[in-house]
Amino acid sequence: MALNPKVEPNLQVLGQTIALLQEDMDLDYFDALIETGDNLLTGEIQVEDGHPKPATVAKLQDLYDQVDLTTLAADDVRLLVQLLILKGYKQEAIQPNHQMTPDTIGLLLANILTVIFRNHHQLSLLDMGVGTGNLLFTLLNHLPDQDVTGMGVDNDDTLLTLASLSSQLQQVKVELFHQDGLDPLLVPAVDAVVSDLPVGYYPIDEKAEKFATHNQEGHSFAHHLLIEQSLNTLKPGGVGVFIVPAGLFQTPAGLPLVKYIQQVGYLQALLNLPQGLFGNTQARKAILVVQKQGGNAQQASQVLLGDFPEIKNQDEFAKFVHELEAFLVANVVVK
Ligand code: SAM
Repeated sequence: MALNPKVEPNLQVLGQTIALLQEDMDLDYFDALIETGDNLLTGEIQVEDGHPKPATVAKLQDLYDQVDLTTLAADDVRLLVQLLILKGYKQEAIQPNHQMTPDTIGLLLANILTVIFRNHHQLSLLDMGVGTGNLLFTLLNHLPDQDVTGMGVDNDDTLLTLASLSSQLQQVKVELFHQDGLDPLLVPAVDAVVSDLPVGYYPIDEKAEKFATHNQEGHSFAHHLLIEQSLNTLKPGGVGVFIVPAGLFQTPAGLPLVKYIQQVGYLQALLNLPQGLFGNTQARKAILVVQKQGGNAQQASQVLLGDFPEIKNQDEFAKFVHELEAFLVANVVVK
């Protein structure tokens, strides 16, 4: 993707402010990124207990004076924040479950939602496990001119602060909720839920037991429980689009999950993402499209199953996307 030439200088300068703050205040990369974002947003360098020191403040001021976000579109600001976060991945160990959703996947999801909600003028959209907000903002910046209310839930304070910072710098309005997605949600019922789901065991069995998709023995899968919670949160006929492990239904716990989905909704599509996007076959992900019962929803005449071609095979990839769009128009009917 070609970088807007106005992003690059801001990236360099903000990178320097982060390094200065890290050194002066003994902060880890992401706390320094949050600090620099606060300074930018308030237009004032926050000093506490003599830090940053006056000499650092002077250097920082000089750097902030060079930052200009006013000529950048919201999506360029998103990209800037994304690149700053990616720099942090080189310094701090970030577990895969906390990593940002790449743009390739975000853009595919934007396309899916655009097609499904093509006749909607208003849309409420929740990201369950919003993290840094990169996926949610990619969607908000690429959905056509609709009145979209964007919401995000996450239980990680630092990631949610990064999402809040990004939204303010982009001047994109979203509502962010710091909570466990498996507690009763503070969000209203929505038209669509998206989630690049955290994959693995959920540690609190007492909470998991309240969900139909919990495992009978041992810990339950967080991603299964969060799909169930998402379906609970959808309006009748609403749509959930999830990034899930490619072998989602191939584990023993996969069957109860399918049964649950079929009880309250319709499994419409499960498409493996191109293998080339992932390091190894175990890490491969898929897009799952589920629709809640009610409204005009109906089970697709045939569930769409398949593999996205590799992106480098442009013609094949484009053909597959067209077929997917035609499938969605014919089968995923929203009010
Ligand atoms: N789409 C996000 C982005 O672009 O930054 C990345 C999502 S990341 C793969 C999965 C997210 O799920 C993480 O941000 C993690 O903190 C969150 N998460 C994990 N368990 C959760 C829970 N029980 N409730 C809410 N969020 C949770």
